[in-house]
Amino acid sequence: MLKIGLTGNIGSGKTMISGIFATLGLPVYKADEASRKFLYDPVVKNEILKQFGYGILTNDREINRRSLATIVFTDPPALQVLNSILHPQVILDFRNWAAQQAGKPYLIMEAAIIFESGYNAECDFIIHVSCPKEIAIDRVIKRDRIDGSSVLQRMQFQLEDEEKTRLAHFVIRNDGTELVIPQVLSIHQQLLKICTQRNDDVATGAADA
Ligand code: ATP
Repeated sequence: MLKIGLTGNIGSGKTMISGIFATLGLPVYKADEASRKFLYDPVVKNEILKQFGYGILTNDREINRRSLATIVFTDPPALQVLNSILHPQVILDFRNWAAQQAGKPYLIMEAAIIFESGYNAECDFIIHVSCPKEIAIDRVIKRDRIDGSSVLQRMQFQLEDEEKTRLAHFVIRNDGTELVIPQVLSIHQQLLKICTQRNDDVATGAADA
């Protein structure tokens, strides 16, 4: 089964677009949600506490995501340490999940930092949701009711939109100038064609063998 990465910077519209793929019947794995889930995994939690100290615990003895974010989004090496704990777990979880998605032509892994994390190595093709920084910041301010500087602070750890556009196999423009659903449907059709072609190649290869 083809594995498709869906990426885009904060506020670009990944979640909205992965929702359209889900409506088309494709399974969607949300890597950012998985990362958050692993903060509750006892082994991962322990490792994070060893690295960042018990000061990041809430009164309920859970990791305070806000405290952790404050540390890692102001200290790039600390972010690297956190990522080195979380990313391998997410990759294993994704592989397990992907192995259970039989019967679908392709599946989607949605992740903000697909290139930065190396998750792209798990995928056959990458779709990038492209949106200018100013529009994305505006959307996140409205969505999360936070100030623009906090959004910018997180964005600085993500590759520039132009760079992701260059690296991706498919690009969806979500800057309000083009309708999104026709773009998704066009990519969907192209991916279905690739799936059919690959299946034919496998069948031919098997017949030739
Ligand atoms: P994050 O990485 O922060 O999770 P995201 O890339 O998943 O962000 P979304 O949550 O899908 O982005 O979109 C950000 C906000 O912008 C949401 O409130 C969404 O409803 C809104 N939005 C997305 N696309 C559009 C659009 N084309 N027009 C107007 N609003 C949009």
